[in-house]
Amino acid sequence: MSHDDIRAGFSENVGKLFDRAVKHMNMSDGLVEKIRVVNSTYTVRFGVKLRGDIHTFTGYRSVHSEHAEPVKGGIRYASNVHQDEVEALASLMTYKCALVEVPFGGSKGGLRIDPREWDESELEQITRRFAYELIKRDLIHPSQNVPAPDMGTGEREMAWIADQYHRMNTTDIDSRACVTGKPLNAGGIRGRVEATGRGVQYALRDFFRYEEDKAVAGVMGNLGDQRIIVQGLGNVGYHAAKFLSEEDGSKIIAVIERDGAVFNKDGLDIEALHVHIAANDGVKGFAGAQYTENGSELLTADCEILIPAALESVINRDNAADVKAKVIIEAANGPITANADEILRKNGVVIIPDLYANAGGVTVSYFEWVKNLSHIRFGRMQRREEEARHSMLINEIEGATGKKLSEKFKESYIKGADELTLVRSGLDDTMRGAYGDMRKIWHEHRKNDKDFDLRTAAYMIAIGRVADSYKSLGL
Ligand code: GLU
Repeated sequence: MSHDDIRAGFSENVGKLFDRAVKHMNMSDGLVEKIRVVNSTYTVRFGVKLRGDIHTFTGYRSVHSEHAEPVKGGIRYASNVHQDEVEALASLMTYKCALVEVPFGGSKGGLRIDPREWDESELEQITRRFAYELIKRDLIHPSQNVPAPDMGTGEREMAWIADQYHRMNTTDIDSRACVTGKPLNAGGIRGRVEATGRGVQYALRDFFRYEEDKAVAGVMGNLGDQRIIVQGLGNVGYHAAKFLSEEDGSKIIAVIERDGAVFNKDGLDIEALHVHIAANDGVKGFAGAQYTENGSELLTADCEILIPAALESVINRDNAADVKAKVIIEAANGPITANADEILRKNGVVIIPDLYANAGGVTVSYFEWVKNLSHIRFGRMQRREEEARHSMLINEIEGATGKKLSEKFKESYIKGADELTLVRSGLDDTMRGAYGDMRKIWHEHRKNDKDFDLRTAAYMIAIGRVADSYKSLGL
């Protein structure tokens, strides 16, 4: 890929989007510059003896802003990870956390590795060694820097990192809070694995709640009436597609993957496709769908909603003008270049921006971190007491009226909130609150400027909050 807006670099793209928002704000140049810059990026090259020889790996941990601590953001494993990318992603983490009012600064890490080239025990050795390098510099630390999964990493890697931290800090009672996205048995929280995909679903539900917002995009009906194309059926894309098709009734008409795309105008069975991909390492051969090798063609196919859920810059100057979707929801970080964003806005496409759309992951990470620090699962103290009180009320109503309430109602009303219910409620509330904040600014500015978009509104809120905390720090 050699388009100049991709070559321009991810950081430059984020910078352009940042500048667009800052133009609408009243801030000193000095403060703008302080917020914009990445505070620090640590690069480490370390060796691990594997397969009879020493292999050298390159890793990064970048910190964009420490206006709130710990700083937070995933660790990505990919063969093309580079400094500019982790810096851009760290900046996005700052704005994302500020927008959804998660009290963290922004950070991101990356390890230049193709995880498919190594077996599990080799990956464990590499991960532990990388973690060791970061831990000894406090770049993994419960109160300073808390990583999480990202592309190419998941619960397994987070468990290794948590264990490595614990081995190096045996007396730290809060050691589990040094990383989030851990498996349940290692201090994780219910609902974290699917949190980003769940957040994408909630974000779309929020958008579809408002006729005025739908009218800007020119979409009609409910979420269940929409045809959706998903690019990337990894953790985020899979969960978003699954929930939207199974719970909202949306039709996922195409899925684009590494080896091509599959299409079915009546909607794909996402669960079956997910199983097929795991067994065949790709979408090719999936029954009941049309296969095409040139998957990226589907990015510009006819649909109402497009969900880029994989890499950055997939929608760029070359294909933006051909996009037919009316709404693009950025499940991935930075899937649309700044140039493409310009073209799409001119064409009236509504973009639900990454810093909002994929904030579900870090939001539930926040709940996990709080759970780790409080050393108790959410709902443990109050659940049975709630159930007892609800039962009392039902008995009283039935006694007073002489009528029986339906078993179905009783069952769902009595049930006290367990951890998963509370996590979902917290996530839903977070997404709704942030959407409400964004749309308010969006519509206020659209009165005089039809070009004003949700992304600019999101950046303005986030930058304003970071600025406020710098001001109160006396900077
Ligand atoms: N890697 C995810 C993101 O880009 C999650 C970060 C976190 O949970 O800290 O938002």
